Amino acid sequence: MKKVAIIGSGFSSLSAACYMAQKGYNVTIFEKNETIGGRARQWKHDGFTFDMGPTFYWMPDVFDKFFADFNKKTSDYYQLSRLDPAYEVFFNKNDSIKVEVDLNKMQNTFEKIEPGSGKFLKSFLKMAEFNYNAAMNKVIYRPGKSPLELITPATISRIGQFIRTISQTIRRKIKDKRLIHLLEFPVIFLGAKPQKIPAFYCFMNHADMTLGTWHPHGGMYKVIESMANLATELGVKIKTNTPVEKITVENNIAKGVLINGILHKYDAVISGADYHHTEFLLEKQFRNYNEKYWSKKTFAPSALMFFVGFDKKLKNTQHHALFFDTDFDAHISTIYDTAEWPENPLFYSSFPSITDKYLAPEGKETGIFLIPLAPGLTDTEEIREKYFNQLMDRMEQITEQSLKKNVLFKKSYCVSDFSKDYNAYKGNAYGLANTLLQTAFLKPKIENKKIKNMFYTGQLTVPGPGVPTTIISGKIVAELAHKKLSSL
Ligand SMILES: Cc1cc2nc3c(=O)[nH]c(=O)nc-3n(C[C@H](O)[C@H](O)[C@H](O)COP(=O)(O)OP(=O)(O)OC[C@H]3O[C@@H](n4cnc5c(N)ncnc54)[C@H](O)[C@@H]3O)c2cc1C
Repeated sequence: MKKVAIIGSGFSSLSAACYMAQKGYNVTIFEKNETIGGRARQWKHDGFTFDMGPTFYWMPDVFDKFFADFNKKTSDYYQLSRLDPAYEVFFNKNDSIKVEVDLNKMQNTFEKIEPGSGKFLKSFLKMAEFNYNAAMNKVIYRPGKSPLELITPATISRIGQFIRTISQTIRRKIKDKRLIHLLEFPVIFLGAKPQKIPAFYCFMNHADMTLGTWHPHGGMYKVIESMANLATELGVKIKTNTPVEKITVENNIAKGVLINGILHKYDAVISGADYHHTEFLLEKQFRNYNEKYWSKKTFAPSALMFFVGFDKKLKNTQHHALFFDTDFDAHISTIYDTAEWPENPLFYSSFPSITDKYLAPEGKETGIFLIPLAPGLTDTEEIREKYFNQLMDRMEQITEQSLKKNVLFKKSYCVSDFSKDYNAYKGNAYGLANTLLQTAFLKPKIENKKIKNMFYTGQLTVPGPGVPTTIISGKIVAELAHKKLSSL
């Protein structure tokens, strides 16, 4: 039985581990941190439970497909509820839009704000659905080796949508800023500003409004635990507190991984750690890319986050809420154009204990806050505190309740923590942006060009950042690795 070492225990690594074990390999995962899950780790404190990374469970079909590949169902491992409303976007006090499950209601909401926009929403979502199916049925599962992978009858018929941006498509038909930002928001998950994202990616709007936002009971970490359980059932061994120091190579063949100065021999290595860091585990001559390459890449944002325990239940908010009560474009520009701290940041809040009572003690609320930021910023305690106060003040005013005096405890998490905890290049949170020039075959390659048995997976390679996409990345890499290893 061939032995495979997998670096990291994020979604991509767990997915790759399951598929490799299913193909008959003897698989071991090495994770540097104390707990598994990577960016999707969970923090528990005084009866409160916080997902430290992803909180939006989107594209449920991808999770279903993953478990179905192992003759399982998601319901064998966790329970899901669809959120209605999925989230609320606040533009000011008494000015918000709820994204509801009923699409007729959404059309009416649009129409009331701007005549004609309800009709546009209907046709836009139709286009989004077509693109979603085109992407999911074929393109997204391809390894990014050749431009030809992008060519299917569906994509050829939509070629203009790779040239036009999503922002142009929306702004041509809609003038109301609130509706524009509501429709542009989902592609921010792809890690670039809507003015740089091809219109084809409107399939994210299908994921958002049509497929919906779901909540796994117990939080997103329940999915990590479920995948780890499946991996263990398939025979995968998982070692935490085990940072890999080096990938040892002889004659263009990876011999194994160095841990505590000792070589552990393997027949292949797959790394789900950040691509840039993985390259540093290799001698210079074996790296796919140099520093100059990375410095020219557009990275997806980092983030300033707060995990807060409140001593009461909150009102006038939802499980997920977005605070777009400041200048959207000005904040996005500080992330992608000027790389500086935003003056008046947009922010996201999540109170999962509104839906899931087990995530906070009775009568209390679990609060997660996130400000997207340019990667590479220097963060200090003072800066974090300044933004926390700003967030609390604005939310107090908009949702008309006291918050600051109800904080039992808080923990902040920012750029330097991403670097330290995940070896993330410039402390990025979401990996590499999906701009046109960083899509599919233009992304960092999933296989090492010089080492025959060394592969990469995760949010810096195909298909890109996000939980569903990194699960897909694990599948793609396992298929490619198996093909190559079978011929060695
Ligand atoms: C704050 C935040 C919010 C997000 N929100 C959402 C959301 O709502 N919905 C969504 O779909 N996506 C969301 N995402 C994106 C999604 O969480 C990520 O794309 C995905 O979890 C990345 O998985 P990964 O396997 O590529 O990498 P990671 O999760 O980073 O896993 C890499 C692992 O490698 C380990 N590692 C690094 N170096 C070494 C080493 N030398 N030896 C051993 N181990 C090592 C790290 O510790 C880590 O565990 C969010 C991300 C963040 C950060």
